[in-house]
Amino acid sequence: MELIYLDNAATTRTAPEVVEAMLPFFTEYYGNASTVYSLGDKSKEAVTNARETIARVLGAKPEEIYFTAGGSEADNWALKATAEAYGEKGKHIITSKIEHHAILHTCQWLEKQGFEVTYLDVDENGLVAPEALEQAIRPDTILVSIMFANNEIGTIEPIAELGAVARKHGVLFHTDAVQAFGQVPIDVDAMNIDMLSSSGHKLNGPKGIGFLYIRKGVKIRSFVHGGAQERKRRAGTENVPGIVGFGKAVELAVATMEERCSRERKLRDYMISRIESEIPYARINGDRENRLPNNVNVCFRFVEGESMLIMLDMKGICASSGSACTSGSLDPSHVLLAIGLPHEIAHGSLRLTLGDDTTREQIDTTVDAIRDIVQHLRDMSPLYEDFVKKQQEK
Ligand SMILES: *Cc1c(COP(=O)(O)O)cnc(C)c1O
Repeated sequence: MELIYLDNAATTRTAPEVVEAMLPFFTEYYGNASTVYSLGDKSKEAVTNARETIARVLGAKPEEIYFTAGGSEADNWALKATAEAYGEKGKHIITSKIEHHAILHTCQWLEKQGFEVTYLDVDENGLVAPEALEQAIRPDTILVSIMFANNEIGTIEPIAELGAVARKHGVLFHTDAVQAFGQVPIDVDAMNIDMLSSSGHKLNGPKGIGFLYIRKGVKIRSFVHGGAQERKRRAGTENVPGIVGFGKAVELAVATMEERCSRERKLRDYMISRIESEIPYARINGDRENRLPNNVNVCFRFVEGESMLIMLDMKGICASSGSACTSGSLDPSHVLLAIGLPHEIAHGSLRLTLGDDTTREQIDTTVDAIRDIVQHLRDMSPLYEDFVKKQQEK
């Protein structure tokens, strides 16, 4: 049975070119990048190259890129260290209700430390309104953190506008760009971004490597204490193979962005149109226009997301329901609740995220499977039976 992998928002396959670029840094050039002897030179050079590649892509300076162990660490760092450095100035932070848990749970932790957090509402498509941000800013607001693109419903936020509002009020602006980087062009200057989080494994790079972009002049302190790596702001021996792989993945993502995204967009829209025309009582979630090219998120009434996942898995199809972090719990996705879906509908959600190797045949196989599974599950549902009876009585 062919595996059909449609969970690229959870993680991606490491590209073969990325693995190839990384290998010599395990076997041959294993020297510590911070040493003086020449074995370390190759490592140092490779780290410098990756940092320069990433900086160039964002319109940033190489010394503004700080490697971390992933997106969650970058998010934690941005929030906690800003709170620490600017806590004297004010104790108010603004974010949105649809952020990743790396942001939301950090905000909840900060609330316990005496900070006040405003969680902005989003509209029915998951968009944060710049006007709502403007109204929420207070004299004691020290940070705004709004994600670039949502990991569940794929909505791309108006980051340049939101950044401009924060800038106008002299408030620092952070964005979790883990889903957007490599799929959407980003320019930190044009978009008024002061800090940005990213992660390697969401763009066909390795797991366990990410970075936080910190604009020069932002007074953020060290998060991991120890050695002098990353300009004394993030201690720990550099993950050289990870950094090299990340750099390679970014290089590939940027070189292929236009062609890859337009291909994925077509497949995405094809999938959405087949679902909408062939499966009744289905609702597409997220913004239709401002949407990640690879994201399909849909709710099927009278069906449980978890049941669909298990049955899809039996057919070799990997998908997700809610976010990976909430899977296994009975709570419906906080993102679907925030866009106004009632609990019972939010429970029937399915997220399908395409990759660079997804084919039209795989999409066809998957939609056929979903159609059959949804019908099968509805046939067993007393709620659906009631609903059909009521429809017939009308
Ligand atoms: C995956 C993800 C993260 C976490 O990144 P890790 O590298 O897995 O720690 C943070 N934010 C968003 C939006 C994500 O999709």
